[in-house]
Amino acid sequence: MADPVRPFVIVGGGMAADAAARGIRSVEPERPILLFSDEPHAPYDRPPLSKGLWHGTSEERIWRDTADEAVTVRVDSRVAAIDPEGHEIELSSGERQSYEGLVLATGCRPRRLPGNPDGVVYFRSLESYRTVRRAAEAGSRIAIIGGGFIGTELGASLREAGASVSLHYPEGALLERILPAPLPRRIADAFADRGIELHPHREASGGTPLPDADLVVAGIGVEPRVELARDAGLEVDGGIRVDAHLRTSAPGIFAAGDVVSFPLSLRGGRHRRLEHESHANESGMLAGMGAAGSPQDYDPMPYFHSGFFGLTWEVVGLPECDGEGPDLHLGSALDDPGVGIYRVEGRLMGLLLWNRPGAMRHARTLLHEAPGSSDSQILDRLNG
Ligand SMILES: Cc1cc2nc3c(=O)[nH]c(=O)nc-3n(C[C@H](O)[C@H](O)[C@H](O)COP(=O)(O)OP(=O)(O)OC[C@H]3O[C@@H](n4cnc5c(N)ncnc54)[C@H](O)[C@@H]3O)c2cc1C
Repeated sequence: MADPVRPFVIVGGGMAADAAARGIRSVEPERPILLFSDEPHAPYDRPPLSKGLWHGTSEERIWRDTADEAVTVRVDSRVAAIDPEGHEIELSSGERQSYEGLVLATGCRPRRLPGNPDGVVYFRSLESYRTVRRAAEAGSRIAIIGGGFIGTELGASLREAGASVSLHYPEGALLERILPAPLPRRIADAFADRGIELHPHREASGGTPLPDADLVVAGIGVEPRVELARDAGLEVDGGIRVDAHLRTSAPGIFAAGDVVSFPLSLRGGRHRRLEHESHANESGMLAGMGAAGSPQDYDPMPYFHSGFFGLTWEVVGLPECDGEGPDLHLGSALDDPGVGIYRVEGRLMGLLLWNRPGAMRHARTLLHEAPGSSDSQILDRLNG
């Protein structure tokens, strides 16, 4: 029988943790909820750190207001261990807390540079944003290591804020691991035209000197924070492994957000992780409902967006294909609208909408309802 006072516990202080609290509340209006975060802040939105906060969004707008859901938010509180059989967690302070249901939303940590040199800011948290902001306002020269999402978004935002910026990355052009040719080359040209110093083919390795700058910022990818789950004996396979209801291998423990490896039907039910805002919000909500006794199916259509210099791009589904690469329909200029069509074994797998705001609704419909469409049918539909 349920213990009347045992709270629901959430480990994590990000968007998935906040969404989990809301999911629990939607099922259980009364029972206490405790959220433990090892950050010094209550949950906030991360995407504005490299975008909106540099373009007029104020810091007050990023907070998720988790406590408004009658949630006790404990900041600076790292959960060090879980006892799944005893239904307890233990904080690094030694304090123990029993739980009625548990959600793990421990997310990811930034990948470190080889050799872990001193003085590098790893860009992921509000603290890291504030450090970079202070440097930009002081007129510092800022070097960014990494030519992926974080590097390009932050580099462009800093440049627009008037900072002196250099970008250092191992690839030949920007976003090369994510976007098909010729986009990376064109993007690199646009960055250079705007006065960003580019240093391609710079592989950071132990012993390589850091770029010459007043501040070095790294955005070279992330690693899932699985150690808590693994040490508690939960199944881990590159992420915390969950089933289609976001249930971990331990009874009563659910997981959500960047850290989970879940079965995605778009990929034939194979397990994978996603690192997207929409995934954090949706899986967080459903994991919370599950932990509160109302498990739900989780089968998302992946979605993310990015942009720089007034240009936007979005991907729905997965940007993965067999054969040579996606079918690309691009204009001659970088800011012309374009579409990338990704297929696996002839089935539509993902759509890249390049500078095509407003077409996302049609793109989703195509993926859900017409995955066998030809290029011309897809382009017609997106234009409609
Ligand atoms: C600068 C930036 C821009 C982004 N822009 C976009 C975008 O435009 N579109 C998009 O789709 N996605 C974007 N993302 C990715 C998106 O923000 C992530 O997918 C999302 O934040 C994942 O949320 P999460 O709650 O799962 O994990 P996280 O945000 O990593 O949160 C995990 C939380 O758990 C805490 N924690 C971990 N372990 C413990 C422990 N043992 N005890 C207590 N607390 C713990 C961490 O400190 C952290 O607060 C961006 C990310 C960054 C950094």
